[in-house]
Amino acid sequence: IVKLEDVHLSFGQTQVLKGIDLTIYKGDAFSIIGPSGSGKSTILRCINALVTPQSGKITVAGTRVDQLTKESERIQLRKRVGIVFQQYNLFPHLTVLDNIVLAPTKILGADKTATVKLARELLEKVRLSEKADAYPGQLSGGQQQRVAIARALAMKPELVLFDEVTSALDPETVGEVLWVIRDLIRDGMTSILVTHEMRFAEEISDTVVFTENGRIVDHGSPQQIFHTADNPRIRQFVGGLS
Ligand code: ATP
Ligand code: MG
Repeated sequence: IVKLEDVHLSFGQTQVLKGIDLTIYKGDAFSIIGPSGSGKSTILRCINALVTPQSGKITVAGTRVDQLTKESERIQLRKRVGIVFQQYNLFPHLTVLDNIVLAPTKILGADKTATVKLARELLEKVRLSEKADAYPGQLSGGQQQRVAIARALAMKPELVLFDEVTSALDPETVGEVLWVIRDLIRDGMTSILVTHEMRFAEEISDTVVFTENGRIVDHGSPQQIFHTADNPRIRQFVGGLS
């Protein structure tokens, strides 16, 4: 469903991606790990057409993302690819339910009644049914992040990108967000996760890639990356796990 071929991207003089090749199949749980600044977020931003590479091919669900020239085409793509960031960016003046209902009704033109029903189902899925009428400011970080996930799912995306969605959370609320993501993956949602939660990546991933300095240094099963990698950098990075 996602294919990157020899993707190169620079910001000014800085080469950030130096030839990225990736293939992600429908239903995959795919994790990207690696040190800070290695290009992980930039890869996700390429997939979602938030940045355009200087060269290389990017295909997402049949669309050549690198060739999109109009903003309207990029918006069209983003309707099909959900993304959840470290910062949840909920609208503070809207209730939890309205935060979820807004985009499908405004952007997709979805029926209001049906969307409210869907939003309530999604809130149940992220275990927040009782917070439908609360405002974001009344929720914990972990609860807000679960609302942000429900909001992304309300667009019925074909795949979801997660960029370090637990990094800003208190340790005690990290688990509740990871459980929600794990449920989604078990339901078969195609997911690409950038994460520093090594144990979680090991548990839920079909494939893991390790990025460093704009390149993919290794890719394989969680077992290969976390336990039997030859590369000393990877062994050091995944540290205590093996
Ligand atoms: P982290 O783990 O810290 O989130 P990352 O692997 O996600 O890191 P990226 O955010 O993809 O890394 O950034 C890769 C490199 O690109 C970094 O050196 C960063 O400074 C640079 N970079 C990212 N976005 C921009 C931008 N908009 N303009 C200029 N440089 C950028
Ligand atoms: Mg990042």
